[in-house]
Amino acid sequence: MKADPVAITRGLVRCRSITPQEGGALAYLQGLLGRAGFAVHRMTFAEPGTVPVENLFARIGERPPNLMFAGHTDVVPPGNETAWRHPPFAGEVANDALYGRGAVDMKGGIACFVAAALDHLAARDGEPREGSISLLITGDEEGVAVNGTVKVLQWAGERGEKFDHCILGEPSNMEVLGDTIKAGRRGSLSGTLIVSGRQGHVAYPDRAENPIRGLVTLIDALQAPLDQGSEHFQPSNLEFTSVDVGNPTVNLIPGEARARFNVRYNDHHSQTALKALIERRAHSAAAGRVRYAFEWQPSNADVFFTTPSPFTELAVAAIAEVTGRRPQISTRGGTSDARFIKDYCPVLEFGLVSRTMHEVDECAPVADLVALTEIYRRIIDRYLG
Ligand SMILES: [Zn+2]
Repeated sequence: MKADPVAITRGLVRCRSITPQEGGALAYLQGLLGRAGFAVHRMTFAEPGTVPVENLFARIGERPPNLMFAGHTDVVPPGNETAWRHPPFAGEVANDALYGRGAVDMKGGIACFVAAALDHLAARDGEPREGSISLLITGDEEGVAVNGTVKVLQWAGERGEKFDHCILGEPSNMEVLGDTIKAGRRGSLSGTLIVSGRQGHVAYPDRAENPIRGLVTLIDALQAPLDQGSEHFQPSNLEFTSVDVGNPTVNLIPGEARARFNVRYNDHHSQTALKALIERRAHSAAAGRVRYAFEWQPSNADVFFTTPSPFTELAVAAIAEVTGRRPQISTRGGTSDARFIKDYCPVLEFGLVSRTMHEVDECAPVADLVALTEIYRRIIDRYLG
């Protein structure tokens, strides 16, 4: 009997695993995978200043090649639950779609690769004939992502686990299943620009120094294009997200002004070079007349690109056979846990259609769940022979 990705998605959606709560979702997978013969490990990671988060690692087979599927069971909050046509944690099927928070991002994706692995094993007396299948599931993706994938990979590395390729089941498609596979992500870097002045009475501007004037000059200079894009990436972009003076008084020139920004950058830059470029631009715009400083936030999101390989071709072929579409290979969108996995093995992202993710009435068409399971099963079958 074939594994049912709709039933597994429903089982996961019914667990209220609002980030960083486990909500029973990992326990549910542990039961399912354990019964299928996987060696399942559960681990909780913690760090000062963060909440402890539960994770799961499972493997079946001992030999290489080791194909990893990765994902997260935590979900963003549902918002006002009465705004949902179908309750966010019920997993109801209506109009040929399964409704619920996480149906798309990404309990549905996990259900599909679990079902595909179970089908692969069932056709081979319960054991991979060659190689291994590993599953890395975290409860810390929608939050700060410090006690999740990055630490499970370290833990696995210390145990001597080796990975050959990975599919991350994030919702990669834009409009229809099969339109997009992701093979890289831009980097992300955040900082604060602080301009100092001298506080004073607005009626005597000659005795004060208004930092807002300097801040405006620097903001203007830093918004200039960073590049024209690269072969695989969109142009880098620096976006100011907040300008803060915090001055409630009408007749006071403030002593300091700040602006926060985030840069999404492509493979023309490294984090170090990008900081240097931004500081050079500020230096030249300040022309010795503006006193300023940068505060950079630590970032664990470097740009990366997964070079096309036979593995990419294998995945693209499986997608094309099942959906009739040859997916575009893209690097758009925000960061994902692929930024950690890429340090261990080549990683591609392919999952459901992202259209309703994080929205009220998030839902996955039943036909997509069935087709995605078929795509994953073909990838496993061919990868492991
Ligand atoms: Zn996600």
